[in-house]
Amino acid sequence: MSCAADDDIDPENPLNKPDVPENVQAAIRTLIEWAGDDPSREGLLDTPKRVGRAWLEYCEGYKEDPAIHLSRVFEEVGGYEEIVLLKDIPFQSACEHHMAPITGKAHIAYLPDKKVVGISKLARVLHGFASRLQVQERLTAEVADCIWDNLEPQGVAVVIEAQHGCMTGRGVKTPGVAMTTSRMMGCFLEDPRSRKEVMSLMGY
Ligand SMILES: [Zn+2]
Repeated sequence: MSCAADDDIDPENPLNKPDVPENVQAAIRTLIEWAGDDPSREGLLDTPKRVGRAWLEYCEGYKEDPAIHLSRVFEEVGGYEEIVLLKDIPFQSACEHHMAPITGKAHIAYLPDKKVVGISKLARVLHGFASRLQVQERLTAEVADCIWDNLEPQGVAVVIEAQHGCMTGRGVKTPGVAMTTSRMMGCFLEDPRSRKEVMSLMGY
């Protein structure tokens, strides 16, 4: 006896992977050729489809407004008036100048006023903005602004450290070199003691 779900399975595509339009595949074949290889050799035959699907995943952040993750807030914080910090959040993004990977970690902190969110939501906001073509400076600012606008906290601090594939694998070829960007808002911008406290919690 088969259930309804079985009927939905396409034997040609049992994992229900997204279709990759022919023009996208052709573009990737062109790139392979431009790089100096033969897109018709066996090992590369399915590469255009795989690359197409991979880019759908790398850029899945375009499908949503990351602020959606901050829409469910808890207003009863039991008098908690200290910094909330999510440290060492690994992430991957892609640089908009070379479409090369950006890999690194982020530290995200805020000092709540009346609203707090489930801690995993901060990582979801990061991933929402990271899963787009990015520059690190803008990613840092977008994450901080999103928390600032939606949680109306007393302060936000975002620090991102990342390696850029366009710098480690091409150009000056400097593997291991990381770039650090930060954005401080509210009390972390205005009050040196608060900034020092959050930076030391982040391990700086
Ligand atoms: Zn780049």
